[in-house]
Amino acid sequence: MIAQQIHKTSPVACTRCDWLGTLDLTAQGARCAVCGAIVNPLRQKGLDNLRTHYRLLLKMGHHIDWTLERRAKEQERLERFFGAIDEPLRGPQNARGKINSAE
Ligand SMILES: [Zn+2]
Repeated sequence: MIAQQIHKTSPVACTRCDWLGTLDLTAQGARCAVCGAIVNPLRQKGLDNLRTHYRLLLKMGHHIDWTLERRAKEQERLERFFGAIDEPLRGPQNARGKINSAE
């Protein structure tokens, strides 16, 4: 008989160093792979915030102090993360068309 161990991983974000990843939260003391801080699971709101962050990265006029290289790296990081957790990175915002940035 083969006992299949199913590890349920959850998307997590480190508030200290901004690390994104997936962890098995049933393990005690889920910690950041980078800095070792206790990490919190990302809920829907957290994922939405990341999607917004990603969208803004693609727009001119946001993060103007960031170099193109840093933007590209951050985009890649988010794309990889959302790919790993099997969540769409470009969500319903497409239906809304243009985003008014009135800030
Ligand atoms: Zn960390």
